[in-house]
This record gives sequence, structure tokens and C-alpha cells, in this order.
Amino acid sequence: MRCLVCDANEANQSGAHIFPAWMVASAFDVEGRTRDHEIIYAVQPFDSKLPYFGNSVHPDKIGEQIGRDLTDHEIHEQKNYLTVDKLWCSKCEKRFKIVEDYFLENVDRRLNDYSKGSKSEIIELKHADNYLIRLFWYSLFVRAQISHFMGFNLYYKTYYKLKKFLNYYVKDNLQDTIQFIKSSYRKDQILKYPLRCFKGYQNESHSDGWIYVNNKYYKPYCFIINNYYVQFYGKGDRAKFKPESFFGISGIINKISNARNYKEALFKIVLLDINMTNEIKKRYINYITAVKMEYCTIMFKSFFKWKFKHNPDNTATGIFLNELINNDLPQGIKYTKENIVDALNRTLLRINLLPPPI
Ligand SMILES: [Zn+2]
Repeated sequence: MRCLVCDANEANQSGAHIFPAWMVASAFDVEGRTRDHEIIYAVQPFDSKLPYFGNSVHPDKIGEQIGRDLTDHEIHEQKNYLTVDKLWCSKCEKRFKIVEDYFLENVDRRLNDYSKGSKSEIIELKHADNYLIRLFWYSLFVRAQISHFMGFNLYYKTYYKLKKFLNYYVKDNLQDTIQFIKSSYRKDQILKYPLRCFKGYQNESHSDGWIYVNNKYYKPYCFIINNYYVQFYGKGDRAKFKPESFFGISGIINKISNARNYKEALFKIVLLDINMTNEIKKRYINYITAVKMEYCTIMFKSFFKWKFKHNPDNTATGIFLNELINNDLPQGIKYTKENIVDALNRTLLRINLLPPPI
């Protein structure tokens, strides 16, 4: 297969991260070490698989998450949701790394000099190249699209445009890339998509980040990549947000004016304080829980109807949700297919014991 980025070389890159390793590492490992230490939960609410455990995760940790060891079969079946094989070529992977490394050195690490979490603030990045920062974000959007991460789907015209930017502007090394962008008289086209970028406050001792993308155009596209929150408009000068469409970030944006990047010379990142970060996390958990429960409820209803030829009443549905949620199963296996079926069976037993309706 040909590389889905450059469309020229063979797609030979294996084990490629959809999002940079340094960016996601601390989401899954307290000490932010290599991918071998990661424990990754599928964030898709519909996924009933076991979490992914990196090779170096201690057996005690696995026991904590799923209440037992992994079987040989399960070890074989383990899939890291954040890496992909043979979708693009090693040359394009190298070009991705150029913008990744640039962002890490010139943006991410420098942000540590600012907020200590007590107050949100807008940081204008005077020392970093606006165009390269843009290309970094675009490379993530393009990779999410190519790997269909969580069903992510960019508007096709935007997708081709972003890919074109990457192929045209990002060269084989940083120096050439910077030179080429400098000399390009059309470079401002890279800045024409409105984009907002937030970095949440990260408590050193916690690894509770998430990777989440909105799977469709939602005015704007939204990404949570560990402690980064990014909103991206696929076209034009769109500045309106659907209220609360992104875990309350919209409301927060209204409190912080002028956070948008659109054709300005300097790139802006909003550093969120502890309270705002926690508020977003809370809303995100509520959202995921609600979607999960909705999915399980639909499953229960269709199963019930198939068995009894009529819809369950609220009592029956309530019993099911109670059986599903209120048990001692470790978090890592609570919503696997087997345990949902077990909850269904326990529910049927309890329904049979209910007094007949009057
Ligand atoms: Zn390529």
C-alpha cells in the first residue's frame, strides 16, 4: 500500500504513534515513561475490551485493574489503541517528528516556565514559529484522520488541504523547513484556519489524562490529547461555539476572550488553572459515563424485548443498571461483554422474583 500522507512511498512505518509519545505518556503512566509502561483504557464508550498494558507494567498493577493476570491469549490479543502499522512511510514519520520535536522543545517545555496553576492566562509564544506550531497540530489531525482514530472524520477538503501543507512545507530536516517557510510568499495560507489551544494544569502525581476526539465536524473539531485541549475550525472565520459541546470548554472560552488563533503573527496558548482543568475533567467523566449508560440501557432494552416481547419498565431497567454499576469488579473489566451479559442474567433472576404486576 502507498503512504497515505505523501502518496509516493510504500507505507512501511510500523508502530507509529497517532499522537506523539511524549504528549500522551503522562496520561497513562505516572512517571511519564516509555510506552512500555502505559496502561491505556479504550475511551470509546462502546468498547468492551480489556485495557492495554505496556510490556513493563508490573503484574500487581494489572491485578489492580482487572483483578487477575492476563491469560496468554489476552496477551496475544493486546492492542495499543494509540499506535498504527503501515499507514504511512518512514520518511513521512521522520517529517512528523521534525514538527513534533520543534513543538516539544520550543512550546511544551517552555510553558513550564509559566503558570503554576493558580490563575488561567493566555501565553503569546514570542519565541516559537507560528507556522511550525500550526503544522504540528495539522500533522496530528491528519494522523487521526488516516487512522480513523475514534472514528475521527475531517471534512475531506480540509483533510486534503492540511495534507498538502504538510507535504509542501515540511522538509527532511528542521533547517530546510524553516528556510522554506520563510521564503514562501504564500505561507499565510497555513494560518487561515481558526484554532484554539488550551493546556490544562497537570498535577505531577496524577496520571489521569485522556485522549479523545470528536468523531465528526462539530463546529469545531475538538481534541483532548492528555493535557492539551484543541479546537479547530475546518474552514473560514468561524468563531461561534455550540454551547457546552465540548465539556464546558465553550463556557470557559467566554471567560477568556481573545484566545483564538486566526492569521495573527504569534500563536496563543491558554494555560488553564486548576479549577478550570478540574471542571473540564469532571464534565468529561460525566459525558463518558452518560454515553456508556445510554449504550448499556439500549442493549438491555433490546435484549428484554427480544426475550419478553415487550419493553421493560423503568424498574427493570433500574435493576439492570444497578447490577451493572454497583459491584466489586475492578474498573478494567467492569464493562467487558462477559460482565454485561452477567449483569443481564442477574437482572433476569431478580425480575423473576418481583411480585407480579397488579
Ligand atoms: Zn510518505
